[in-house]
Amino acid sequence: MNVPAETFTEPSTDRAAAIARCRFCDLPLTATFVDLGMSPLCESFVPPERANAMEPFFPLHVRVCDGCKLVQLQAYVAPEEIFTEYAYFSSYSTSWVEHARRYAQAMTERFGLGPDSLVVEVASNDGYLLQHFVAMDIPVLGIEPTANTAEAARARGVPTEVMFFSEATGRALAAQGRRADLMAANNVLAHVPDIADFVAGFREVLKDEGVVTFEFPHLLNLIQKVQFDTIYHEHFSYLSLVAVEQVLRTKGLRPFDIERLSTHGGSLRVFCCHMGSGHEETDALAILRADERAAALDRIETYAGFAPRVEAVRAGFRAFLAAEKAGGRRLAAYGAAAKGNTFLNYCGTTTEDVMAVFDASPAKQGRFLPGSHLPILSPEAVRELRPDDLLILPWNLKDEIMGQMAFIRDWGGRFVTASPHIQILA
Ligand SMILES: [Zn+2]
Repeated sequence: MNVPAETFTEPSTDRAAAIARCRFCDLPLTATFVDLGMSPLCESFVPPERANAMEPFFPLHVRVCDGCKLVQLQAYVAPEEIFTEYAYFSSYSTSWVEHARRYAQAMTERFGLGPDSLVVEVASNDGYLLQHFVAMDIPVLGIEPTANTAEAARARGVPTEVMFFSEATGRALAAQGRRADLMAANNVLAHVPDIADFVAGFREVLKDEGVVTFEFPHLLNLIQKVQFDTIYHEHFSYLSLVAVEQVLRTKGLRPFDIERLSTHGGSLRVFCCHMGSGHEETDALAILRADERAAALDRIETYAGFAPRVEAVRAGFRAFLAAEKAGGRRLAAYGAAAKGNTFLNYCGTTTEDVMAVFDASPAKQGRFLPGSHLPILSPEAVRELRPDDLLILPWNLKDEIMGQMAFIRDWGGRFVTASPHIQILA
């Protein structure tokens, strides 16, 4: 057909924009935060027999709502599809279990929890956190959508219900008399498609003077440190206090305190209660509000500045790859984690650029990274391949990895991180 190109491109662009609406306030999403193009699901490691087969790619187009300033990715993939296969056991990470132990101790002291209290964790995984309350004889209940992790929790004495949490399931729990003094939701708020319905569930279960803590990576860190590799399909929302507070208040909850955590490159723990509860607002909360205001997170123009900085990281990485080739240096990567996949795919990385990625998880070894198809090898293979440079993909574990892989220096090997700019840690 001989039809001018713009006849097609203009209206279809409009249609695409019209489909996307804010998951919280339902305004049309017209502003882009960053568009990372098409990407495969970051946990879909490719087995050798599928190496030559087609692979599904989905958009990684992050938008920001002009109304509530919620930075969000559309739920391109149904959460059931992602999470039922998601067999991550939190207890495998010793530092995370230690983080949980300290939390249990601090909350028990601060809020005077005891044998008459109830602690409920939503997305309780294998009981890595609630086990510490059980050890102090405090009754607990885990809520967990994946059956195999819930089973592991029960095996260690943590009563667990297999369900997706929502206003309806929260109401059902309350009707059974299961109301909580403390509720925890760690790294789950960003992963739920219907954030408002999810938050409403906490209001249902929480006792009048009860406390909910939400932990999530802070959007301000993502922006300031250009952590665009924390964007992936399972991660639907990128949260600031500005946006979260609006969701909370609409559902009858309010924040009263915050703590800043170093987990996941900089997270917030937000303490919340019922609107009419007696918990007083702390200075820490006021300071965070001021920080977000100083960074203009309440203004839509702020968000437009992010994408060019992401493009600059890619340009810097491509220039580094060219220099490696020109210098005859062989580059490999460490850590087949989610954030590595977003980074490598966005940067158009192939086996021409990075010969392999090493990872300690036996389940990943022998497979290929989604999209880039870098082969995943065990860390022992580092000694055989003797790369000149080792790109550390999970930068949050940089010190740990450099310690374990220190022997690459024996042959002059160097460590490299790529974001927010190339850093060679010789
Ligand atoms: Zn909105």
